[in-house]
Amino acid sequence: MAEEVRVRFAPSPTGYLHVGGARTALFNWLWARHTGGTFILRIEDTDRKRYVPDSLDDIMASLRWLGLEWDEGPDAGGPYGPYFQSQRLEHYHRYAEELIARGAAYRCYCTPERLAQVREERRRRGLPPGYDRHCRYLPEEERARLEAEGTPSVVRLKVPETGQTVVHDLLRGEIAFDNQKLEDVVLLKSDGYPTYHLAVVVDDHLMRISHVMRADEWISSFPLHALIYRALEWEMPVFVHLPMILDPSGKGKLSKRKQRRPDGQVEENMTMVREFREAGYLPEALFNFLATLGWAYSGEQEIFSVEEAVAKFELEDIRTAPAVFSYEKLEWMNGVYIRALAPEELARRLVPFMERAGLRVTADDLLPLIPLVQERLKTLADGPAYLDFFFQDIETPSADVLVPKKMDAPRTLEALRAAREVLAEVEWNEEAIEARLRQLAGELGLKAGQLFQPIRVATTGKRVAPPLFGTLYHLGRERALERIDRALQVLEQAAVQEQ
Ligand code: GLU
Repeated sequence: MAEEVRVRFAPSPTGYLHVGGARTALFNWLWARHTGGTFILRIEDTDRKRYVPDSLDDIMASLRWLGLEWDEGPDAGGPYGPYFQSQRLEHYHRYAEELIARGAAYRCYCTPERLAQVREERRRRGLPPGYDRHCRYLPEEERARLEAEGTPSVVRLKVPETGQTVVHDLLRGEIAFDNQKLEDVVLLKSDGYPTYHLAVVVDDHLMRISHVMRADEWISSFPLHALIYRALEWEMPVFVHLPMILDPSGKGKLSKRKQRRPDGQVEENMTMVREFREAGYLPEALFNFLATLGWAYSGEQEIFSVEEAVAKFELEDIRTAPAVFSYEKLEWMNGVYIRALAPEELARRLVPFMERAGLRVTADDLLPLIPLVQERLKTLADGPAYLDFFFQDIETPSADVLVPKKMDAPRTLEALRAAREVLAEVEWNEEAIEARLRQLAGELGLKAGQLFQPIRVATTGKRVAPPLFGTLYHLGRERALERIDRALQVLEQAAVQEQ
């Protein structure tokens, strides 16, 4: 292909960036970077009723967080701007007029009340919803009269009433639509704003878009767009409709809908990029995961870098079969990426999550603790649960948490007292702590776990915590002993009550 590749992501600022939208942006971005082409961000803000003010900031921040920087668009500018459709109304007016002049569109003066009547009538007669084309056949004098009276109007597409409209999708080949099933859709609304159908065709043409990659929900609009291109005698870009993204059950489209988790909890699916960011997913993991939704790097290799994806991405390899959004797989991938981070980097990325949990720490504070948790973290948001007791005092655990299974309070008390004595005089390094505590377990006739569990609970406040010896070492002798002393008091009381 000699022509320069120019692709666009064209979100409507009607909500935060959905992972489905992010996947669309990602595929466009990959194709631009693979070919040395241009990635354009165009804001389709012509539906003023559905406009959500902070959605634009969210969309741009989420794209940038994923590393999907645009070459032309808001902020970046470019030779084909403006990149907000609301600032391009004159183009849509001009081509709406052009379509009327070419006999491919017409003005419609029907009032909302009449349209409602038509809808009701069609429903009653079991016809598909749609417009009855009343104004398409208005006598000229009637049209002139309505114009002279300044009657508000919309512009509608004049869809052929018979035959088929055949379109071509790169992955699906030719798709034929019966014109009888298509509607004379509105192109320009009475408020002077275009609908999606007109704006998308005009802008893709004027912005010299070479490939349109978009969600497959737009396939049904495709023939309408083709009719507009043909009426204006414009060459069409290559169209690639991306496969649908299904929820983990594989039964429905990915949505916020509540679902039951394996642990029985019912919660909403995360679907917004910002939710994944807040939940502690790494952008490189989400990038990798989204790239696998409808495209495969190779047969087996699921983990690949941005550079590898850019090098390998080919449109022909995009699949048409729906892709299942597996939260489990994403969590696994996130763990893989967390383990691959340099410790300094992981420490740096954990800081905001610690702060959010009310823990004031720096990356330098965290760095020595990284080896304790790097293997265990599934998300950055897991950080505080594993590390909080290093940075804030703990509530003294109760006896039922301190006493391990198959032990009682007196025996636990005895074991923890002995451990305290050992920890008070052992040389303070991980190896020595481990060796002496293991030896002590033997001396007391306890399994290692029976001794370690009360020490862990006493010093961290948790049953599940990072590896014990490193934890004790980094906690420091003084704090470890102080916490053990508090636990001993609790156990003493419990032991008295049990006698
Ligand atoms: N504004 C449309 C959307 O948000 C764009 C569809 C397209 O890419 O043509 O889905």
